[in-house]
Amino acid sequence: MRRLNNYVNGTWVEVESEHAVPVYNPATGEVIAETPLSTHADVARAVEGAKRAFASWSRVPVVKRARVVFDFLAKLKAERDAIAKMITTEHGKSYLDAQAEVDRGIEGIEHALSAPTLMMGESLAEVSEGLEQTYYRYPLGVVASITPFNFPAMIPLWVMGWAVVTGNALILKPSEQTPMTTLRLVEMFHEAGLPPGVLQAVNGGKEAVDAILSHPEIVAVNFTGSTRTAAYVYETAARHHKRVQAFAGAKNHAIVLEDAVLEPTIDGILRAAFHNGGQRCMATSVVVAVGSVADEVVERLAEGARRMKIGHGFEEGVDVTPLIRKEHRDRVRAYVDEAAMSARLVVDGRPAIDEHPEGFYLGPCLLDGVTPEMRVWQEELFGPVLSVVRARDLDEAIAIANRSRYANGAILYTQSGKAAQVFRDRIDAGMVGINVNVPLPVAFFPFGGHKDSFYGVTGENGKELVQFFTRRKVVSTRWF
Ligand code: NAD
Repeated sequence: MRRLNNYVNGTWVEVESEHAVPVYNPATGEVIAETPLSTHADVARAVEGAKRAFASWSRVPVVKRARVVFDFLAKLKAERDAIAKMITTEHGKSYLDAQAEVDRGIEGIEHALSAPTLMMGESLAEVSEGLEQTYYRYPLGVVASITPFNFPAMIPLWVMGWAVVTGNALILKPSEQTPMTTLRLVEMFHEAGLPPGVLQAVNGGKEAVDAILSHPEIVAVNFTGSTRTAAYVYETAARHHKRVQAFAGAKNHAIVLEDAVLEPTIDGILRAAFHNGGQRCMATSVVVAVGSVADEVVERLAEGARRMKIGHGFEEGVDVTPLIRKEHRDRVRAYVDEAAMSARLVVDGRPAIDEHPEGFYLGPCLLDGVTPEMRVWQEELFGPVLSVVRARDLDEAIAIANRSRYANGAILYTQSGKAAQVFRDRIDAGMVGINVNVPLPVAFFPFGGHKDSFYGVTGENGKELVQFFTRRKVVSTRWF
């Protein structure tokens, strides 16, 4: 069995601990590697090297740092398909979705080339007579990033580009469930000329995270994962006086008004709900069908869901791919079992479990007559389950969506500009779509939600990450 290593000081190093967890191919159930669980000592070793590297890397001019990112970008583009294959193998998502994921990650790296401009401060010549003031941005020091299983390329790429181009040294802890893609990206960055120690990959789970959160030399933590872990990371990092931001879970609502153009609407909702096995923080998990269109929406969604192709990620034309782990699939299934007792299970994806015993499959499930009192509406399932709630009008639909503890994405399907304006202003969500199925901001717009979907102030991407990964100094100057 291939036991993975940490990447520290520009080379692969063995993890001290004997404890490890399996990495599966979710489509076959086969164990393909083992993730070692780093201890406090393993993390400390990585931090020590990062601290040394920071001393010189932070003084490399930002233009030169950006050149290393540029060379990394060329490698990424050349190896895009190989990375996508790794993603499909360890995560299970379709090869097409994996390629799209790498492309979104590449956009983040491309944008990181703007660091020389975005790191600029501001000056005012005469704030007072003979007095000028300027603010400069400086890197923070040793920073950390803890990433989730569902985007093993895109999220690490978004963070690592900005963390290092701004002059920091980054400790990156990939998800223990999908570490291989992330580890390869770290190695590639070094092949492109990144000096040893600037980017350290540390494998592991809770102990590694705790070591990061309590290490006195780590000054900032960027986290993405479930709300429960995000809350823990946010509180613990703050208790250790670190700068922290934590991107968390979601329950994204799509409201369908009577004037929506149904064909692309239904098609878009089906893809947003079921592709990737619903394991996206931007997945649509609730449809709020408004007024007289509700029956037709449910009928068309059911037709589409039944037609979806279930299979492994490399299969041509596949729609619904396996979930990350058997335990996770069983947990999602249990939600469906429970919901089917109070709501109407219009499409039942559970037979796929026996039809595809080789992997961690669950077919698309569609529930009608769901209400906010049900757990299936309240909680993030992270599986191929779509709930339909019915509402009288747009006001009620917005009120339902805003009752959720989550506020990541929300979508309105309509042809009315007025309705879109009302929705835009009143919906509580960080990323809003008008007839856009997955309103993922491009690399130069801020990414992030509200409420229990995000703990922090600045968001992901460009300007926001420059703010997060730098500190300002305001210099007042007078000459006699
Ligand atoms: P997770 O919370 O289980 O794990 C995320 C990271 O935290 C991993 O690196 C993991 O090793 C670590 N971790 C897990 N349990 C921990 C614990 N008890 N203590 C300390 N560290 C721990 O999340 P996941 O299952 O890998 O990812 C899926 C979740 O991430 C979903 O909830 C999804 O909505 C969310 N997500 C959010 C965004 C966003 O931008 N808002 C993006 C992607 C995923």
